[in-house]
Amino acid sequence: MAEDKELRYDPATIEPKWQQRWAADPALYAAEPASCGKPKYYVLEMLPYPSGQLHMGHVRNYSIGDALARHMWMRGYNVLHPMGWDAFGLPAENAALKNNTPPRQWTLANIAAMKRQMNRLGLAYDWATEVTTCLPEYYRWNQWFFLRMYEKGLAYRKKSKVNWCPECATVLANEQVVDGCCWRHETTVVEQRDLVQWFFRITAYAQELLDGLDKLEGWPEKVRTMQRNWIGRSEGTEVDFLLAEKADEGTGNRDQGTGTEGLGKTRIRVFTTRVDTIFGATSVQLAPQHGLVAEFTAADPVLKAQVDELLEQQKKAREAGDLGAIEKHGVPTGHFAINPYNGARVPIWIANYILADYGTGAIMSVPAHDERDFEFATKYGLPITQVIRPAQEGETQLPFVSEEGVLVNSGEFDGLSCAAAEKKLQEIAAAKGFGEAKVTFRLKDWGVSRQRYWGTPIPMIHCERDGLVQVPDEQLPVLLPDQIEITQQGGSPLGRVAEFVNVICPKCGGPARRETDTMDTFVDSSWYFYRYTDAKNAQAPFGSAAANYWFPIDQYIGGVEHAILHLIYSRFWTKVMRDLGLIVNDEPARRLFTQGMVIKDGAKMSKSKGNVVSPDDMVAKYGADAARAYSLFAAPPDRDLDWQEDGVAGVSRFLARVWRLTTKYAPVARTGRGQQAEAPQGVSLKLLRKLHQTIAKITLDFEGRWHFNTCVAAIMELVNEIQGADAQLAAGEVPPAALLELLRSLVLLLAPFAPHLVAELWEELGEEGSVLRAPWPQSDPELAREDELEIPVQINGKLVSVVRVAADADAAAMEAAALADEKVQARIAGKTIVKKIVVPRKLVNLVVR
Ligand SMILES: [Zn+2]
Ligand SMILES: [Zn+2]
Repeated sequence: MAEDKELRYDPATIEPKWQQRWAADPALYAAEPASCGKPKYYVLEMLPYPSGQLHMGHVRNYSIGDALARHMWMRGYNVLHPMGWDAFGLPAENAALKNNTPPRQWTLANIAAMKRQMNRLGLAYDWATEVTTCLPEYYRWNQWFFLRMYEKGLAYRKKSKVNWCPECATVLANEQVVDGCCWRHETTVVEQRDLVQWFFRITAYAQELLDGLDKLEGWPEKVRTMQRNWIGRSEGTEVDFLLAEKADEGTGNRDQGTGTEGLGKTRIRVFTTRVDTIFGATSVQLAPQHGLVAEFTAADPVLKAQVDELLEQQKKAREAGDLGAIEKHGVPTGHFAINPYNGARVPIWIANYILADYGTGAIMSVPAHDERDFEFATKYGLPITQVIRPAQEGETQLPFVSEEGVLVNSGEFDGLSCAAAEKKLQEIAAAKGFGEAKVTFRLKDWGVSRQRYWGTPIPMIHCERDGLVQVPDEQLPVLLPDQIEITQQGGSPLGRVAEFVNVICPKCGGPARRETDTMDTFVDSSWYFYRYTDAKNAQAPFGSAAANYWFPIDQYIGGVEHAILHLIYSRFWTKVMRDLGLIVNDEPARRLFTQGMVIKDGAKMSKSKGNVVSPDDMVAKYGADAARAYSLFAAPPDRDLDWQEDGVAGVSRFLARVWRLTTKYAPVARTGRGQQAEAPQGVSLKLLRKLHQTIAKITLDFEGRWHFNTCVAAIMELVNEIQGADAQLAAGEVPPAALLELLRSLVLLLAPFAPHLVAELWEELGEEGSVLRAPWPQSDPELAREDELEIPVQINGKLVSVVRVAADADAAAMEAAALADEKVQARIAGKTIVKKIVVPRKLVNLVVR
């Protein structure tokens, strides 16, 4: 009984013991200076928002990164593995409203709580480089970057729409708008108001952001595709249709007349990717927000009501998250536009699927050659005019959507190919001044103004005499006032803090007002990973030498929900910093990994579903090693993981077996240290072969496949095999040197997954120093190679025998071995073999008659 107790695996004792030791040794997980001479490896998990509680998604994310960091340390790399806090944002203000706790206090308490949880999980972070974005030593550099961008014309102001709750009398974030109403006033409809706001000119880098994706081969293809779509480049032409004078439209004539009489001066600029089809345009369609629409509706209340309805449909579709799937509706305006190429009069419509912020907010509709236009024209009875035919003449089914064709019904352009016509029509538009070739991007400039308290103050001053004035660098940081009353009244809370707002103009010395907008929190996360390389720098955001040594990030790991915004913004920021001369890399991360979600009972864990599993509970019950290892082993890391507590218990039992096995044989194994290993034979050879096969497999997985779930399966098999040889081990058939190699390597292989258990067993085996500084085991290919394989032999699909062949036997040798087998010979005697199926290394099947 006493021995049983001694051998019991008890993570509740082991884990805190090692965590204390690790905490007392900060050099253990610290990045070394470049002069260390080792190759560098920067592994990074996305930094969390400090909500106060880690969830299982975090545990999975960090377990992946931690396993990789530990593995790279053991491979001899200089590893940077930092952690920080994305600490600005709305929840802190909401909590302040609810509990009357100042946002700073609430946030810092949450950080402390989550840091405790991370340490309890035994995660190997270099806390000396910790970054907390809500602290002035960090956000002053957001302000510094803002000023540099302002100087380069990359930060600017323009009028833009915001969500406005009339009841709160304040701006709402998109996530505070619920079903079109205010989150706090559930029956108050949120209005759109025009407000002057700050923007970053990310569109200046649109083409480079797009081109750069081709080089990011270490990024998931789906992420690159999402970014390409988000950037949304299209090549095309802008063309001005002229608005026909109102007097000319009384006829209600929708035929395409040819007269140019009655032309007004108003130009309606449309964007099209197919100007070669312009002779087939049978209407012009405007977004409901288009400037002309307001003019049309001013004198037409019926039209006004119809347009309001279109706007409402658009808004609903936007909220539902799929604008592309909107059911298409439109209304005719009674106005006409003139095609500049042939003078054709076409009706002007307003449609709900035309977006104000794509292209020019106006299109020409060519139903014969566009699916969407065809659908719309069919629904509303608009004419359909074919102007492209296939290059090879024949029947054409409309809509005919192809750029491989020839123009018809297009006047002097008939017979030209689509490509030739496009070029010619663009030249004419440019020469006559009614259009030009144009590349359009879906990507819009990044609106960074927030009318919020808990964010980085924008370092600008409004002076009546001098206009916009930059806060001088030496006055940075513009500090967030600490004592502030958060109410939901009247714009930015900062606007009500007189000491903050009232300022001396740095230019004229007169009274002036500070900007009260704060920055979008995506600013914080756009460059935080550079700060890790030089986190204490008080003179600059970071030193270039440190950044140039560590960048690009070798492996970035995070959720796919950040595939677009965070990753586009941080790519943009990297390019801006490069152009400021701070860094030399073009992209922040060489490789990106997006892990799957953690779900339970088939659904995402959420409080409302009541299916949340708390990491603390799992750690208390099974230990950190079991919780971490389970989150890696239960599914391939890129897939969703369905959390099963049975599975955690299973991993915990497995770790206990490793514990018992190693502690049992450690005393014998230790005597093998320094002994000359003999050429292994018998059971030693069998076990060492299995060991070296396992090493090869796990090493390969770390090099890119990351199928950690099959890694543990392989380690479990190895442990089974060692345990299966218990009698021989007990009888001393395995020499101590071989036993030591077996147990020592087993421990090393588990080190990235179960660090506490491993630290304890490492000591148990008489090893000194941290296992992280022990070299990762090398697979010996000679030892790993099987010399014989057992091959099942089937006759007509039924197993009749098993033969042994050399591991490198070819198909002919396998067939010969099968045919030489006595049982096989007995079965085929007197019959004809009609087919022989040989699967190399696996199977022989004979079909006989
Ligand atoms: Zn409200
Ligand atoms: Zn001034």
